[in-house]
Amino acid sequence: MNQRPFEIDPLFRSLTTLAGVGPRNAKLLEKLIGGPKVLDLLLHAPIDFIDRRFSCPIAKCPNGKVVTMEVHVDKHFPNARKSLPYRVKCTDNSGEISLVFFHANKGWIEKLLPIGKNMIISGRVEYFQGLPQMVHPEIAKPEERKTLETVEPIYPLTQGVTNKTLRKAINGALDFIPKLPEWLDDAHKTQNGWGDWHDNLRSLHEPLSLDELEPMHKTRVRLAYDELLANQLTLAIVRDHQRKINGRAFPTSTDLRSKVEAALPFILTGAQKRSLFEIDEDMRIPARMLRLLQGDVGSGKTVVACMAMLNAIEAGAQAAIMAPTEILARQHEMSLKPWLCAAGVSFVTLTGRDKGKSRDAILQQIKDGDAQIIIGTHAIFQQDVEYHDLGLAVIDEQHRFGVHQRLELSNKNKGTDILVMTATPIPRTLALTAYGDLEVSKLDEKPAGRKPIETLLFSNEKIEQVMAGLKRKTSEGARVYWVCPLVEESELVNLTSAEERFDILQSCFGTGRVGLIHGRMKPTEKDAVMAQFKDGALDILVATTVIEVGVNVPEATIMVIEHAEHFGLSQLHQLRGRVGRGAEQSYCFLLYATPLGETAKERLNIMRDTEDGFIIAEKDLELRGGGDILGTKQSGMTEFKIADLAAHSDLLATARDDAKLIINKDPKLESKRGKALKTLLYLFERDQAIQYFRGG
Ligand code: ADP
Ligand code: MG
Repeated sequence: MNQRPFEIDPLFRSLTTLAGVGPRNAKLLEKLIGGPKVLDLLLHAPIDFIDRRFSCPIAKCPNGKVVTMEVHVDKHFPNARKSLPYRVKCTDNSGEISLVFFHANKGWIEKLLPIGKNMIISGRVEYFQGLPQMVHPEIAKPEERKTLETVEPIYPLTQGVTNKTLRKAINGALDFIPKLPEWLDDAHKTQNGWGDWHDNLRSLHEPLSLDELEPMHKTRVRLAYDELLANQLTLAIVRDHQRKINGRAFPTSTDLRSKVEAALPFILTGAQKRSLFEIDEDMRIPARMLRLLQGDVGSGKTVVACMAMLNAIEAGAQAAIMAPTEILARQHEMSLKPWLCAAGVSFVTLTGRDKGKSRDAILQQIKDGDAQIIIGTHAIFQQDVEYHDLGLAVIDEQHRFGVHQRLELSNKNKGTDILVMTATPIPRTLALTAYGDLEVSKLDEKPAGRKPIETLLFSNEKIEQVMAGLKRKTSEGARVYWVCPLVEESELVNLTSAEERFDILQSCFGTGRVGLIHGRMKPTEKDAVMAQFKDGALDILVATTVIEVGVNVPEATIMVIEHAEHFGLSQLHQLRGRVGRGAEQSYCFLLYATPLGETAKERLNIMRDTEDGFIIAEKDLELRGGGDILGTKQSGMTEFKIADLAAHSDLLATARDDAKLIINKDPKLESKRGKALKTLLYLFERDQAIQYFRGG
């Protein structure tokens, strides 16, 4: 019933079914194109092409032009010294040309260019000491002339995969493209002058002019639209499904909330109050809440989540808060503890670290309802975790989770209100692809009393100066994060390793005053180091990017980021957000290696000039075209193959409206167009959305 339509099966075959692709090649290709199947290959778009259609006599060859011509093979000039090229002299009626081969295999060239025969050669003609030559030409027999006189697309490549291999595989794949029923609206398609999907997919690999390589070319626009439509339709289906599940009505907490408010060492900001009001409104009505709480690092999302959870608790239900990492879950526990204790609310923390008896005991409390609030990692939504009565789930994404996790969660907890928190100020286009039409509350105001962070750029040569400055600051009690990009020295990438930096800093600041935290440590070890830093036992915490997410040490006022040029804007912004959380003046030192590339320079200047997460996110999108702002590479969520969010943002808005209309008119995709759209969803492996049509 809801099974992948057989017509598209060929597109799902493995790469090894293609001519010239063996298991080894398949592996390399898979990494390059981001998937194991024929369709992934077909969506790997060329970035350039070589036009081999031009032909002329040798004597008339323009310098630098790609020419295809028939020549007579006269003589071979092998070279005894491997470092010198092997030359083959060829002629036609008009003149002489030299074919040049580096690192040549004599036997191979002799077979390829037999003396006395006529051959077709194709390549870029260059003049060397006044004579035309061609380096590594393509070669064919005269009867195969047609195979050369074409336009040859050039693809993004990876080591071990040549353009020839790729093209051969893609040529084979082109034969697999089926004719599929049209899923686009006829009027929309005509109005844009778009062609059929199968034609466009083919033309993608047969560019005849430069403008066909542009994202705004008709062929690419249609394919991008298909991709975006699949994305938006999935979100619309999920949302439609979630809306139909009856939610619950939780009156706004009064008693518990006033107790927590009395225990807070601060008053809520205007933005916190406004967001909380929006959440209260959602929770008060019986429809299910699906809301995104968007707020920069340090904007104070945790307390808002806490207040929201109290609504559920006061009505007798449970609430859960899920963090993406162990450290963050523990941190939520630390932040929430005093507040929950003040209100007399019971809580448990459950992470992957809890095993055996202790885990069983926690599960029992969750099942009995003895635990009113459940804090943890994704462990709290594992199969065997049974809730007594879960009313609200808060997902602190910090940009680490994706649609998949949200689907899992909503399948498990039917009717549960959902509040998703994200620390990434997501540009509107990206928010759309990741969240569709989720209602959004924004914490766009920093808690009072925070001073702007002063950001300074230093080239690596000034590192001694930076360390001397830190020495002075730490002697006055400052606490410092020092971020390095890699854990161990790698020869390939010349990055300073955290371990090495740790040693250097220790010899400067004293043994025992410097800590090291990285991704390969055990969670308990990480916690121990974090705790030492928080307690002030350490002045400096050397870290790889594990501290990127959520960590809260308000006493830390200095952030040093080494090789800042290797980080993306959003990452830098997240890291910088670790400081500037207290009332003290905070600093961020961005160290960079010289020479600095243009984009890297621009990134660092943006960091120096603004602290506004939204501006930074927009710039990031501009500079990287989507990039990995949402950490989607890890979650496999919105890595578009053809669509380019910087170029196609208008298309995205259209796709969203289109998807909305479709689901309003034909929620189960049963009409003719609906069925075709199902095929589209299968093409992009949105099967998860389709499963919602089953049984109701
Ligand atoms: P994030 O949004 O990054 O999760 P947190 O919730 O961890 O931010 O809050 C960061 C810090 O700001 C915490 O120490 C928190 O107690 C504090 N905080 C939150 N709201 C306020 C406020 N209104 N005034 C002052 N400090 C606040
Ligand atoms: Mg947080």
